[in-house]
Amino acid sequence: MQHSNSLFQTPFAELDLHRIPSDGSQANSLRAWDAADELMLNHLAQQQLPEVSSKLLIINDGFGALSGSLSDYSVTNWNDSLISHLACKANLKRNQRTAPIDFLPSTAKPSGLFDLVLIKIPKTLALLEHQLITLKPHINDHTVIIAGGMVKYLQTSHQQLFEKYLGSSTTSLARKKARLIFSTTERRQQASQSPYPLNNYYSQIDLHISQHANVFSKNKLDIGTGFMLQQFDQLPDGNRIVDLGCGNGILGIMAKRQQPKCQLYFIDESYMAVESARNNYFNQNNLQSQQAEDKDNFLVSNCLEQTTLADIDLILCNPPFHHANTVDDHIAWQMFKQSYKALKQGGRLWVVGNRHLGYHVKLKRLFGHCKTVASHHKFVVLEAQKNSLNLD
Ligand code: SAM
Repeated sequence: MQHSNSLFQTPFAELDLHRIPSDGSQANSLRAWDAADELMLNHLAQQQLPEVSSKLLIINDGFGALSGSLSDYSVTNWNDSLISHLACKANLKRNQRTAPIDFLPSTAKPSGLFDLVLIKIPKTLALLEHQLITLKPHINDHTVIIAGGMVKYLQTSHQQLFEKYLGSSTTSLARKKARLIFSTTERRQQASQSPYPLNNYYSQIDLHISQHANVFSKNKLDIGTGFMLQQFDQLPDGNRIVDLGCGNGILGIMAKRQQPKCQLYFIDESYMAVESARNNYFNQNNLQSQQAEDKDNFLVSNCLEQTTLADIDLILCNPPFHHANTVDDHIAWQMFKQSYKALKQGGRLWVVGNRHLGYHVKLKRLFGHCKTVASHHKFVVLEAQKNSLNLD
């Protein structure tokens, strides 16, 4: 159904655009585009771009506003978020935009040269840096590069990255609180090596971790993650354990260290996260002799939606509380509901979260009870058991 807040009108198209999930949650009452998308498309139309048969690289397109509007051209949609890819595909279908789009995960490199590169400024500076460096071999003197973002998220360091890696840049006037960055390409031939993935050693848990540019908690152990790890002496045994929203995989890897015989599954909607978790898992000295089947245990999925996991003994989860710059606990709720389904009778979900997020209320509603494993002034570790008889 088309709502007034789902009609996206630009000089290129009139589209009915939705976020994922589209189940009436808060996410769905928010628009699937922002003023930076509109500003970029209006600017392109004023400049009579793109030219016929242009090759476009569209980077970090949130829910397909840019790719959907420009789908008559040859579009590569390069993104670290599976959810963004899924939302874009669903929006293309909804609007009968049938021209094929190349959906490229952030962990793969684009191929060929592009005439126009559109970049939605991502939340992490590191991801932008990695993308600009990786982009260099795929642009030439004629490539037009335009980035866009909401003023509140744009820092001078964003523009500095364009200056450092691509060439001199200018910005547009702000319009509806959005702004564009126009970059030249004169520095494209200067060699630059991406500093990502980054390598760190966490001495408190004796673990080497490598992680790609967009992965949660670079350079330090997240306080919530660390707090859950401190409770691992109480971790229930399990044959099949899931690290849901795995990031660099630290929770699952530490569970495996403690229970070497368990079968582990690492799930994240970020391509970079899953690849980092996979690399870290196999890089652990004591995990070198893994069976081939372990390769199938690293899944890029929106919560558990793209998996067939069932009969799980234990799910470890440090849920996100934002997506696409929006603070929202719908993903945590989705993770809890799908965890409940995937757990076997008696299986347990372990959750760590900021105390103020009130996850215990949600878990209690879903599982009928919720036990506090540990708490301190900021974080709580909670346990919910499927069909447990020990209601508290
Ligand atoms: N488990 C890691 C740790 O403790 O360091 C990362 C926790 S971080 C707070 C939350 C993770 O959830 C991020 O890696 C994020 O990419 C992932 N995530 C966000 N939305 C997701 C979704 N819909 N499905 C799966 N993973 C998601």
